[in-house]
Amino acid sequence: MYERILVRYGDLTLKGKNKKMFIDRVNNLIREKVNNDNVKYERNHDRMYILLNGEDHNEVIKGLDRVSGLRGYSLVSKVDKDTESINKRALEVVQGELKDKVVTFKVESKRSDKLYPITSQEISKVVAKYVLSNTDLLKVDVHNPELTLHVEVRTDAAFLYCKKIKGMGGFPVGVAGKGLLMLSGGIDSPVAGFLAMKQGIEIECIHFESTPLTSIESAQKVIDLTEKMALYAPRSKIKLYMVPFEKMHQALLEFIPESYNITIMRRMMYRIAERIALENDDLILINGESIGQVASQTLKSINVVSRTVTMPIVRPLSTYDKLDIIDISKKIDCYLTSIKPFEDCCTVYVPKKPTTAPNMKKCLQYETHFDFEKIINETIEKTKYLICDAKNHRDITFEGLVVSEVLAKEFS
Ligand code: ATP
Ligand code: MG
Repeated sequence: MYERILVRYGDLTLKGKNKKMFIDRVNNLIREKVNNDNVKYERNHDRMYILLNGEDHNEVIKGLDRVSGLRGYSLVSKVDKDTESINKRALEVVQGELKDKVVTFKVESKRSDKLYPITSQEISKVVAKYVLSNTDLLKVDVHNPELTLHVEVRTDAAFLYCKKIKGMGGFPVGVAGKGLLMLSGGIDSPVAGFLAMKQGIEIECIHFESTPLTSIESAQKVIDLTEKMALYAPRSKIKLYMVPFEKMHQALLEFIPESYNITIMRRMMYRIAERIALENDDLILINGESIGQVASQTLKSINVVSRTVTMPIVRPLSTYDKLDIIDISKKIDCYLTSIKPFEDCCTVYVPKKPTTAPNMKKCLQYETHFDFEKIINETIEKTKYLICDAKNHRDITFEGLVVSEVLAKEFS
């Protein structure tokens, strides 16, 4: 019954002369994520039609759900624009939406073909009358109907649809530029990465890993999360920097008073992240910090930690509630991976009483206890990157464990 999908672009009208670039990018993303050579694409001003050509619309919509910059979509039926054809198809479309119970209903029409002999209001009346007289399951409610049939009469034909499915919204990933996401193995940072991409930011990731203090599985978890995020990225690939943090970690344990360990560790992470970002033309740092969530995320902590770098830091989750973060984590299929119980460099050593109100002077003084610049330089030199490719995941056995091929290469 539905042979096409109408795709509505997001807020592109706001962008004036950049509009063409936005639309080209979103169209490329649509083709890439839908990834089906059988469907056909028909461009039409601020929207696009995907002609299904017999392909399963659910599969196509699964792809569209990964395209940032789309407001939404509708399954649409095209029909000749004479009254009889419209009426018959309208009845079929509505019957397809009905289950066994009575629902409230209205018809809404638009007419861009101004030569069409009757007005939009009259079209709605005629169609509603025909549909209502052919089924017992509908009751008119023009104010708050459960089901709305939309009829659009255009110059070439009439188009009918009922549901408006919500898309990701935001902007096509990449239009805003590129940022570096600080990615732990937890729940928050992948969600922050997803929200950044949704807002048009292409991301690269940086992970501080402390093997052999931490397990290889915890590094694998980060690769798995990056691959999940990569489903939303251009070409379904994300670059992941693996920073060998063990030496820094040991130095912190040796030279920094316990209550400041996490604070100084985070200052070191920010410093390294900024350097890697600068080397790779990333314009901002992104992380999963959420105000108040843990000791390291009080305003005082965020203050002394952020002031180690001058690069802007975007914290998409700063004001989010944990439950809302978990909802998004589940929606993007990261949650079950994030809650796997492998420790990372923050959990392997948890001070008994981390300070929630660190003081800048003390940070600066403790940092004179060791030559951190030297360790940072060595660490950056040893940093490697992997390309996480959501479409080409390959497992191999390495040291008795099943891990991604990219990870085995990194550790061998
Ligand atoms: P998450 O759920 O993302 O792990 P969290 O609530 O556990 O966050 P923290 O461990 O305090 O919070 O980390 C705050 C943020 O710092 C993380 O969201 C992430 O952006 C960054 N971060 C923490 N640990 C690492 C790490 N090992 N590598 C890279 N970034 C990290
Ligand atoms: Mg964490």
